[in-house]
Amino acid sequence: MPRRFSKAKLDKYRKLIQEKRETLLKELDYLEDASLRSTITESSGDISSYSFHMADQGTDAMEREKAFLWASREGRFLYHLNQALKRIEDGTYGYCEECSKPISDDRLGAVPHCRLCISCKTSDDASKDQ
Ligand SMILES: [Zn+2]
Repeated sequence: MPRRFSKAKLDKYRKLIQEKRETLLKELDYLEDASLRSTITESSGDISSYSFHMADQGTDAMEREKAFLWASREGRFLYHLNQALKRIEDGTYGYCEECSKPISDDRLGAVPHCRLCISCKTSDDASKDQ
């Protein structure tokens, strides 16, 4: 499949996606801080359970983080943004994943991480995130 966009245009979309990603990561930081704070408060001020929790973070910490991310709307959004950045790198960005037709510039401008063209999106009611 030929690369669809010039480097300048790809840079523009990459920047759009990265900006969304940074905003989202800040929100996720806030969410994690908030849930951590409530955990500490619930343990009635016993700070030892907090340090135990920190020591408990081993090899499955990444898995738990992934599960947390996937369980949240923000996490799925982040996933789609990451995938879009990957598609920019491998040259498949701007093509529909279903029918392989080019996605319109208007649609990419509005939803830079979209992976389906508007007609496939319309017939794909299961995916509500894009
Ligand atoms: Zn399509």
